[in-house]
Amino acid sequence: MSARVLVVDDILPNVKLLEAKLSNEYYDVLTATGGEEALKKIEQDSPDIVLLDVMMPGMDGFEVCKRIKGNPAVAHIPVVMVTALTDSEDKVRGLEAGADDFLSKPVNDIALMARVRSLVRLKMTVDEWRARETTATQLGVVESSNVMNEPVENAKVLVIEDQTFEADKIADTMHRDNDSVIPVDSGIKAMEFASQNDFDLIIVSLNLKKEDGLRLCSHLRSNERTRNTPILMMATDADMQRIAHGLEIGAHDYILRPIDRNELLARGRTQVRRKRFQARLRANYEVSLSMALTDSLTGLYNRRYFEVYLQKLIAKNNEAKKKLCVLMFDIDKFKSINDTHGHGVGDEVLKTFAFRLQDSLRSFDLVARLGGEEFVVILPDITDDMAMFVGERLRRSIADKPIRCSIPAGTLPVTTSIGGYIVEAGEHTVKEVLERADKMLYDAKHGGRNCTVFEKFGKLDPEKFKQEPRATIE
Ligand code: GH3
Ligand code: MG
Ligand code: MG
Repeated sequence: MSARVLVVDDILPNVKLLEAKLSNEYYDVLTATGGEEALKKIEQDSPDIVLLDVMMPGMDGFEVCKRIKGNPAVAHIPVVMVTALTDSEDKVRGLEAGADDFLSKPVNDIALMARVRSLVRLKMTVDEWRARETTATQLGVVESSNVMNEPVENAKVLVIEDQTFEADKIADTMHRDNDSVIPVDSGIKAMEFASQNDFDLIIVSLNLKKEDGLRLCSHLRSNERTRNTPILMMATDADMQRIAHGLEIGAHDYILRPIDRNELLARGRTQVRRKRFQARLRANYEVSLSMALTDSLTGLYNRRYFEVYLQKLIAKNNEAKKKLCVLMFDIDKFKSINDTHGHGVGDEVLKTFAFRLQDSLRSFDLVARLGGEEFVVILPDITDDMAMFVGERLRRSIADKPIRCSIPAGTLPVTTSIGGYIVEAGEHTVKEVLERADKMLYDAKHGGRNCTVFEKFGKLDPEKFKQEPRATIE
């Protein structure tokens, strides 16, 4: 996995040292020796991660970090603060400025590489969701905000720790954010809770007496329910190698003992915010996807979906040497329903109309709303006779029973005209098929409305297509 890393430090030898280490691992390295230069490069070259010195003349690291995190265009780029300071207050200050992690100088190589790799991987996941969401936004179906500004309070936290005093301390600390904390002392109990709840954060001790915390991390990462839940490892200085392994297999962050309460809060908040942000992007994407393909009034598929689907079906039919039928519907004198009773009543009619079509078909037939009061049905794998029976059945499903709507009379008689075209195996375009069915629909309108006209067969005699062959009524 190659990625672009921006190293920011006012002291050139420090820059060179980090640059050498990272280049060795095949990272593409950019450098800056001051805050202003760093901000410019971040905007221009969009790095995948920023390693940021804290103490610099002029604009210090805290300020640079704050500006990155306050700019929606680049806020998603992970920032690791690098400093000689070991004071926990500074660490917390950095994390609160939005930094994703903190590394102390001299930089431990294992910690550096593990950190860079895991943050880059995280960013790639977020990037993918951002890209999908942007596409959805361009389709014009959702209002989107790509800024990570989710609340961090009221998180649900699972803590896996067998030392009671440590578990108590964590619970006590996390309560400051109104989090609800569930402490467990074994992996089995953890998996049990995790299979029944959605947690915002899981804190795992790598120093459990009876089992391997790393193995637990790996279980959590592969479990469907916890796959997207951030994992924060707790360990000691001596565990650096295992921490690196943990980050490698997908844990998101770690905190060293003795645990500093403020640092724990800050790291926890970062993870919870990131998780909620990702969940929002994903949910928006799913909503927008369904909105892009369905019609919000009737819930039916829209023209966009219909055209792609029909194209595929035509190809499939050609291979299988089968026939399919396309039926086009247009509600009769619909304009006068709107004009007489209002648009709202018109909408009620459209909804019931859609429901009745869907309700009278087989599960693998498809109904779509092409627009306005025009609908279309595809009947795959069908014979000529059966297609005509179905056309007539659908016409009757509308005409035989007035539609209930909010007018004084309570119901309204509605009819529809239908144009049918049977697509034989062969090469056809969607456009051609639609035009031919549309031509039949036109004939049906001119043939008196409330009737079905098929190419080759003309206007159908309702009497002849009343009684369907039994086997076909499924
Ligand atoms: P014909 O029998 O020849 O089809 O007559 P018609 O009145 O149904 O045909 P026309 O195409 O003139 O009218 C269609 C009307 O459908 C006009 C438009 O205002 C209305 N319409 C289109 N979309 C909607 C909608 O979403 N809701 C409602 N209530 N009306 C709609
Ligand atoms: Mg019309
Ligand atoms: Mg009409």
